[in-house]
Order: sequence, then structure tokens, then C-alpha cells
Amino acid sequence: MKKWIVGFLALALLGFGVARCEMNSGRELDDGGRTEVLSNAPHTPEAGAQPGDRKVSDPVGDTDTAAASGTSADARGDARAVGEGEGMDTLRLEERDIYKGELLLVNEEIAISPDFEAPETLLLYEHRELVQGFGLMDRSIRLTPELLERFTAMVEEAETDGVDRFLITSGYRTEEEQGELYRQLGAESAMPAGYSEHNLGMALDIGSSIGEMRVAPEGEWLREYAWEHGFILRYPEDKTEVTGVKYEPWHYRYVGLPHSAVMQQKGWVLEEYLAFLKEHRAMEAEWDGQRYHIAYYPLSETRSIRVPADGRYTVSGNNTDGVVVTVWE
Ligand SMILES: [Zn+2]
Repeated sequence: MKKWIVGFLALALLGFGVARCEMNSGRELDDGGRTEVLSNAPHTPEAGAQPGDRKVSDPVGDTDTAAASGTSADARGDARAVGEGEGMDTLRLEERDIYKGELLLVNEEIAISPDFEAPETLLLYEHRELVQGFGLMDRSIRLTPELLERFTAMVEEAETDGVDRFLITSGYRTEEEQGELYRQLGAESAMPAGYSEHNLGMALDIGSSIGEMRVAPEGEWLREYAWEHGFILRYPEDKTEVTGVKYEPWHYRYVGLPHSAVMQQKGWVLEEYLAFLKEHRAMEAEWDGQRYHIAYYPLSETRSIRVPADGRYTVSGNNTDGVVVTVWE
């Protein structure tokens, strides 16, 4: 298995209130092979498009990117990106940007926003041609096409390591389905409607046909390598006091790279990662030879930011009060 190394070059601590910088970051990989590599994805923060693929395993990174300095409060406008010189655009942030993207935090205290747009999903049983390299626990399992693609790429790689008895045991759930599950299982084992990552379409429960995930090779493999594919073990055994959820060796959340690599490197769960960004505003990370600048902007302070005109960035809301902008070189 390849080992990707995440190097944290520096922690850019930005002065509050003065120059707000933007960081960059980057590329995400989606998965090896099935997804196309977009090294210069157009900026579509809404879609959270992540470019990237990784071919190089050594951190290189020496190119310094001039951090774009964010402009502060601008009037909200309809125009999202307004062309400006020097390869940078100004991106207008809107309230709805808080509620979309791959870093949305949903937990027992933070519900999915009414402004969250429910994703399109596929009923996998009716798309058997897409069920490759894993089994389905039942006929009701649905995933978004994006999550399916990323999961498929991940299990393809696991197969090369001889780990190939994956099952999807649960995928996307509507809030109604979540409410029903909550009524059946109770608060010990399920979140109320609107408080589950399954309602986001960015999480799935993964099983093994040969044993419990706590001990099965599939569980071990995922704990070691899922982060390389943009997934995180969302409720680790040693973080129950932070997540508020008992250890769930089956529940994986897609956050994309480089975020999954940062969390792996730092030993953070999503709550801790977003709290760090909120406190420090920005950080740099390096993954797979690519340097990323990652910065948090509260919408109460920032309504427009400078981003590379060629689209080397992503924007994700945090589901509470701001966005995380990731820019790469
Ligand atoms: Zn789950």
C-alpha cells in the first residue's frame, strides 16, 4: 500500500481582523482511477469538485503560493466570481454557502440546515452494473453517484491488497427514514432525524461478509487506508467524548483530500479539525506533493474572498457560520 505523507509546512496564523489570508489547498483526490483527474477544475464551489489525483507520493512542495489576501466585507451580490487581474478572482460568499460542501459538520448538537439541498441518489439494487467489488446488505441502499464512485475506487484498491469482502450496510437516508430508525433503535444507536450524516449523503456504513468490522480485515484495512481516499472513520473509539457517538467501526464519512489526510495526521475528528480552523483561521498542509492552504472564514466578517481564477480551490460550508476555502498551487 502506498503511504502518503502529509507534511505540515507551517501553520499560518493569521491576525484576526487585519489581513485575512486565504489559504489554499487542494486537491483532492477522488479516487484512483474511476474518477477523472481534474487538475484545473473550474471553480464550482457548489459542486465541491475536487480535482486531483495522486500519482506522486513524496511531498515536494516548494513552490510558494502567494496567499491571496481576502478582502473584507463586500456587499453581497449575485455575481459569484468577478474577474480581476493577476490570476485571482473575487468570490462572493452567500449564506447558502454555509450549508453545502464536503466539510459540513452534523452531530448530536448540530442538525442539517433547512437550507441543505438533499442530494440525488441511486438505488443501488436497481443499478447492479454499478455494484462492483462489494455487496449490498439489502435492496434499499442508496448512495449519491459521487459517494459510490469514491467508495468503489477505494474498494478496488483494497482488493489489490487481498481485502475484498466489503458490504454496504447503509447509505443515504431521508430524514423520514432516519426518524423511523430513531424510533426503532433509540438514542443509543441512532441519531434523530436531521442529525445524522446519513441524511447528508456523504456517509455510509460498511460491513464485511466475514466478520465484524472491529476485527475483520475490511475494517482493519479501512482504518489504515480510508483516509487516502478522502474518507474518515467518523466515530473512533478514543474520541467518543468529542463526537458524542460510541465507536462505530463501520461508519465512514467522505470529507475529501487533503482534509482526510490532515485529520489522519493530526489524529483529529471532524469536530476537532473545524474547531482548529475556527480558532487559528488558517493552516497549510502538504499531501502527495501538493501544497494546500486551508482557511476558515466566518460569514459575519467576510463576504468575499480572493481565489485563483483558474479554479484551484474548493469551498465548503461548516454548517454553522462560515466556510472553509481550500486552495492549491
Ligand atoms: Zn452510519
